[in-house]
Amino acid sequence: MTTRHWIAAVTVMAFAAGNCANATAAQSAPATSGVTDAMIAAGVGDEWLSYGGGYDEQRFSPLNQVSDQNIGKLGLAWFADIDTARGQEGTPLMHDGTLYVSTAWSMVKAYDAKTGALKWSFDPKVPRETLIRVCCDAVNRGIALYDDKVYVGALDGRLIAIDTKTGREVWSKMTVPDQENYAITGAPRIARGKVLIGSAGSEYRARGFISAYDAQTGDRVWRFYTVPGNPRDGFENDAMARAAKTWQGQWWDFGGGGTVWDSITYDPETNLVYFGTGNAEPWNPDTHGRGSGDALYTSSIVAVNADTGAYAWHFQETPEDRWDYDSDSQITVADIEVKGSRRHVVMHAPKNGFFYVLDAKTGEFLSGRPFATVTWADGLDPRTGRPNIRPEARYEKTGEVYLGRPGYYGAHTWHPMSFSPKTGLMYIPANNTVQPYLADKDFKGSDIGAQLGIDSGAVSLPADTRVRADAMADTTGHLLAWDPVAQKEVWRVEHPGPSNGGTLSTAGNLVFQGTAGGEFRAYAADSGKQLWSFPAQTGIIAAPISYAIDGKQYIAILAGWGGLWDIYPGLLAGKSGPMRNLSRLLVFTLGADGALPPPPPMKDRVLDPPAFTGTTEQVARGLALYAQYCLGCHGDAAIAGVLNPDLRHSGAIASSDALKAIVLDGALRHKGMVSFKSAVTPADAEAIRQYLIKRANEDKALEMAAQK
Ligand code: CA
Repeated sequence: MTTRHWIAAVTVMAFAAGNCANATAAQSAPATSGVTDAMIAAGVGDEWLSYGGGYDEQRFSPLNQVSDQNIGKLGLAWFADIDTARGQEGTPLMHDGTLYVSTAWSMVKAYDAKTGALKWSFDPKVPRETLIRVCCDAVNRGIALYDDKVYVGALDGRLIAIDTKTGREVWSKMTVPDQENYAITGAPRIARGKVLIGSAGSEYRARGFISAYDAQTGDRVWRFYTVPGNPRDGFENDAMARAAKTWQGQWWDFGGGGTVWDSITYDPETNLVYFGTGNAEPWNPDTHGRGSGDALYTSSIVAVNADTGAYAWHFQETPEDRWDYDSDSQITVADIEVKGSRRHVVMHAPKNGFFYVLDAKTGEFLSGRPFATVTWADGLDPRTGRPNIRPEARYEKTGEVYLGRPGYYGAHTWHPMSFSPKTGLMYIPANNTVQPYLADKDFKGSDIGAQLGIDSGAVSLPADTRVRADAMADTTGHLLAWDPVAQKEVWRVEHPGPSNGGTLSTAGNLVFQGTAGGEFRAYAADSGKQLWSFPAQTGIIAAPISYAIDGKQYIAILAGWGGLWDIYPGLLAGKSGPMRNLSRLLVFTLGADGALPPPPPMKDRVLDPPAFTGTTEQVARGLALYAQYCLGCHGDAAIAGVLNPDLRHSGAIASSDALKAIVLDGALRHKGMVSFKSAVTPADAEAIRQYLIKRANEDKALEMAAQK
């Protein structure tokens, strides 16, 4: 743990940067072979019918044909190449012999689950410009099945119902109020004839909500906002009026955030829908005087009635969130022992680093412990679960750099965890990341890009080998087996970097996980001993499922590196090893011996930038602009991952006109790079170019020094 160099460096840089800137749709019993509420409620068996397995989101398969005794015979049964080369986060579903999967760009495909034969493919044709309002790649995490339809939330905000047999669109609804600030990446869920969906957008000007649509007609049945709107417009309900008392300033100018971008869990036992909410917007609470109120109901778990959307309870995990500690990680329901008695609980391991157990019916705090290194709070109040926030973590008050653990990426984020009732353990794809936070004192919002209110440029990773080594050493991941009853770690498997895949646990005493480094692995669920591995040729971030057909058990996983950890963290993105995206659906069974074709050779790129001819002022201005408008897609310190262009290598930086054609005139709009004319002047574009040339030359010098 050597953060000393990093702290020193970012502090110096911060100073140096200075001012630079249905009601109840009946449970119709369809005459078709379609999916019903009762089938989802029955949980995982031979089929996998809902994103989290059953309604409980435990992701546990009772199948045990593949076990810790015979896992060595597990081999590739079939694979399918996916026609999009971006991050693949989708969990497949299997019903009636068909494997359904959503891929990047919100496409949906149906395969014969036994043979891999493609039955149909659906492309919602999401405009590529949508990327500009998506923090974290053109990903899609999954679909829902109900009756004879499959449902997907498209990146541009549409909820689309598709015929399971033909792959044709049945209905489509635009679910978001405007297309500048909202996107959908999460999986819809089913509850009593309704399709539930939220949206992403808390880094933009979004007001979070969750909506329910009639599964047959697509009519909206209810909507619950997660944060209050402008009081002048009146509040939708008492929950909003109460929440408004926890906000200050003109919070509604930035929407407020609290978006429901991943976790939605329907619980038939309580008839409640539990969902997680994202950060308050902007991150820096000083912006527009949002202040350090709790900002309800951001970074919380909220429960509403499944039929009406009426508020039932909330539990705020991160009051006054200024660290991007979204509570959107998956919410798992189970009956476990709490202080000697059986309780029906929700379990949660959000970005903020604490593992929570709450009463499912009331939201009562039952227990909470850190499952990761936590520097923003000194534990939780044992009665209420409220964190004791450390003063230095309120970076907008101190004006200093605060090095936060977890960082914005979170100790655990959307990557699904699994709970085995057999071992009683939760298997969490956990991260160790660090993020320097510094308030941008002169922040002014704009109409394009993320609105964070923090000075990302001042704290970006410098071209200093010691600092870089520290940062790399501080950035790891692990598979964590956590006992939610005792609230303690049982075992862990270390990974070189963060953003490893979601997990599946099975009755065969197995836990499956793909790694960011490109392996698909199985571990003994009780001990963590690695038992099996398959070279996937690409990083895996999605979660596997299991199903059985004709008495044969299969394991399926979508492989394909990408997501936030490729595009935002710059150099740190490569911590797990060489990255590439080879998107494929991989399906395994005992005794199979399929093989993947040899992978194409990795490209080794050498920096060859033009000579730097700019001024110090241009570089400072360019850094600030880059951090505000470019970093979110092209990487910290202008070091990109593999999905988006690395601008240090771009031919466009050699020509002022070429760069302006892209940045101002939108020459690459069709690839998602829209015009930034509304926020960036020609002089600004030139400043960005000079900053990029400077950065490329700095890194070229480091490369040459390393070769000596
Ligand atoms: Ca967020």
